[in-house]
Amino acid sequence: MADPFGFMKYPRRNDTYRPIFERVHDFKALEETLPEEERRRQAARCMNCGVPHCHSGFFYGGGRAVGGCPNDNLIPEWNDLIYRAEDKKAFERLTLTNSLPDFTGNVCPAPCEVSCNEALNGQGITIRNNERFIIEQAFKHGWVKKSGLPVSRNGIEVAVVGSGPAGLAAAWRLNQLGYSVTVFEGSDRPGGLAMYGIPNMKLPKTIVERRINLMKEVGIKFVVNTTVGKDITADELRQQFTRVILAIGAGVARDLKAPGRELNGVQLAVDFLTTATKAVVANGTAATQRLAGKKVVVIGGGDTGNDCIATAVRQGAADVKQLEITAAAPAERSADNPWPEWPRVTKYGYGQAEAQELFGDVITQYETTATTFNGTDGQVTSLTTSKVKQFQPIAGTEQEMSADLVLLALGFTGAATDVFDQFGVNEIYDGYNTNVDQVYVAGDARRGPSLVIWAIREGRLCAEAVAQSITAVAAAQA
Ligand SMILES: Cc1cc2nc3c(=O)[nH]c(=O)nc-3n(C[C@H](O)[C@H](O)[C@H](O)COP(=O)(O)OP(=O)(O)OC[C@H]3O[C@@H](n4cnc5c(N)ncnc54)[C@H](O)[C@@H]3O)c2cc1C
Ligand code: SF4
Repeated sequence: MADPFGFMKYPRRNDTYRPIFERVHDFKALEETLPEEERRRQAARCMNCGVPHCHSGFFYGGGRAVGGCPNDNLIPEWNDLIYRAEDKKAFERLTLTNSLPDFTGNVCPAPCEVSCNEALNGQGITIRNNERFIIEQAFKHGWVKKSGLPVSRNGIEVAVVGSGPAGLAAAWRLNQLGYSVTVFEGSDRPGGLAMYGIPNMKLPKTIVERRINLMKEVGIKFVVNTTVGKDITADELRQQFTRVILAIGAGVARDLKAPGRELNGVQLAVDFLTTATKAVVANGTAATQRLAGKKVVVIGGGDTGNDCIATAVRQGAADVKQLEITAAAPAERSADNPWPEWPRVTKYGYGQAEAQELFGDVITQYETTATTFNGTDGQVTSLTTSKVKQFQPIAGTEQEMSADLVLLALGFTGAATDVFDQFGVNEIYDGYNTNVDQVYVAGDARRGPSLVIWAIREGRLCAEAVAQSITAVAAAQA
């Protein structure tokens, strides 16, 4: 085990965020990494406890909420290996379950850390930062490519539709197992929401591209600008491939059907973030003046809303406000939300912190919604807000708020159904299989909007289910 007294000797230290007044001038990574010797001390804080809640992935709240890592990552083992400076072994342990730690090491909200036994009385281990350290060591020393190469090829072709984390994890695992994998992607670049969704500050696109390039090097084919169902039909895919995995995400955004919704300047958050990232990929990471002089209102208080705020700040917005329909969460855990559950407490995101620092005011109004978008000559100029009770506007509380751009960050309702319809899929089972023998579903498309680590888990387990089904058919025919 790691240093048995490490948690008493060394206080927790995170990889730090760059200072606000520096980072708002660019779209570069928010975080800076600690020196290597400090990272090993942080790993030494892991107690290797008898019941490591961090990796036990227990479910509560009807099965959707999870305490610990949902992907069963073998956390205490690789913490110990970092402490011992056995980074290659740490990489091998980590990638037994997580094929994309370069993604999660940057963006995972780390439910493992809050359910860490050390977090019961103190501060949990810096698990996400440790994970990023391992994968960066692996890239530096050239261990990743070899880990993705198959021992031999079996000549069986599998199609993966969608190149988000679920599709990538499925493709990686199937390739390791010897299958020939082709990934179809409707967008111009692979990566799904990891490419166009999560902003560059949180997940630099160089990291996504590094992974895609490596996947090509180990033999996975990518076909971009190709929407399955339009550019290539379900029947064509089913004829060409032994199995098809639909990892198409849950891309149907929730809208706000208020009067004036059609005005220019009222936009879905994901469209705004996609355009912003395309500009970063094309022009580099310097801040822009695209929103200079503009007032921006973000509707939605979740992580996507926060990403919109941070992006608007980097595009030079003159002011940013945020509306959230629910009440603010309490500052401390409530009695019915004990450790090791995920704490339902007020979260103050990086974007909110930046906007507050720049504009000098609390930017978020809770229990508030927009009831009307107002404009002139087809362009939004303001919105009418209202306080809510049980999600309904309270008469007499209306106020007008100026806005040149309104971003709707209200989450997603699920996957587009047209692709499922074309494949004849109307039931998706726990084993990732469907009512159509040849077709499997994984990731947000199956679970609904979720997290990168869930998508990785789904991709890996779906790939294994596909491999087992092919083996079972072959055995039955032998
Ligand atoms: C703004 C934002 C920020 C987020 N931040 C975080 C975060 O910090 N941490 C975290 O853990 N999670 C975050 N998430 C959630 C996370 O990105 C998703 O849970 C994850 O990407 C889901 O992976 P997926 O592969 O299932 O789907 P997606 O990433 O949505 O990928 C689906 C892919 O399928 C493609 N596709 C769809 N239909 C077709 C078709 N017919 N033919 C071909 N291709 C098709 C799409 O173009 C897309 O590329 C965030 C989400 C958003 C929107
Ligand atoms: S993937 Fe997320 S939850 Fe799992 S070990 Fe890494 S940081 Fe923790």
